[in-house]
Amino acid sequence: MQNIAVIGAGTMGNGIAHVFAQNGFKVHLVDISEKSLERGLSTIEKNLDRMLNKGILNSDQVKDTLDNIKTFTDLAKGVVEADLVVEAATEEVTLKKKIFRELDAHCPEQTILATNTSSISITEIGAVTNRADKVIGMHFMNPVPIMKLVEVIRGYNTSDRVTEEILALSAKLGKIPTEVNDYPGFVANRILMPMINEAIESLFHGVAGVGEIDTVMKLGMGHPMGPLQLADFIGLDVCLSILEVLYDGFKNPKYAPCPLLVKMVMAGKLGVKSGEGFYDYSESRKAEKIAAQFS
Ligand code: NAD
Repeated sequence: MQNIAVIGAGTMGNGIAHVFAQNGFKVHLVDISEKSLERGLSTIEKNLDRMLNKGILNSDQVKDTLDNIKTFTDLAKGVVEADLVVEAATEEVTLKKKIFRELDAHCPEQTILATNTSSISITEIGAVTNRADKVIGMHFMNPVPIMKLVEVIRGYNTSDRVTEEILALSAKLGKIPTEVNDYPGFVANRILMPMINEAIESLFHGVAGVGEIDTVMKLGMGHPMGPLQLADFIGLDVCLSILEVLYDGFKNPKYAPCPLLVKMVMAGKLGVKSGEGFYDYSESRKAEKIAAQFS
């Protein structure tokens, strides 16, 4: 396996492209938005620079990593030679199904189609293709170059061979893969999102302020980041989409998204990526400084 296509150059897609490229794979990074591709590449460059300054990589390795990445706005051109596609586009089921139909049409027969979805059913996505045995969840964590876990999710029809290949490949990237089954939110977000939603409910009901809620969870529970700040880093729109999948999937009111989260997303307050969420990231490079504390 040598040629990887990554679909989506946002928060996750650029990190996934970075990690594959740093490990010697040829990466085609595909996005419908030229601006997202530019922003994605510039994030990769900044993160590589930080790794260079810390002595984690030398300048040849930085150059090789960047040389391994090519960008595309045309999906068909980007995936035509891919051995593996990792889809990391916006968390919307209709969009993912559309992308997977296109991938199925344009990729070679043997190509494995992985999705980085946080919560959408792998079985449902696989069902729109003619290769459900080769469709699998490869759920990286944010920030991808730093976080060790890859949650590997088997759809109902995913084959043993494909699962083993993806487990081995994740390990080759220096990650620790964990195999789970296909239920809404899988393991990571079935547990994380109700906690984030409860933190937002606590703010909504005036139990405490943003800083106080995050401080309780950081100092009291030993979390490296408070749940509201984490929500900002994940993206409030992504959090809302995941909660909606949990709510629809389990038909259980305990997953109902907090009205404050819904309103903030409507208002375009999406967290770090929009410059404001529970915290203000607008001026200067506040978000990067915070991110640097965790790198
Ligand atoms: P994002 O909003 O930062 O980026 C999404 C990108 O997808 C954008 O650049 C957009 O232009 C692009 N896109 C939209 N439609 C496209 C199409 N048809 N073809 C190609 N590109 C398209 O989103 P994100 O946070 O990077 O999330 C991407 C995926 O990763 C989602 O499925 C999300 O649930 C999952 N995920 C997110 C996190 C996180 O912390 N943000 C963590 C794990 C998994």
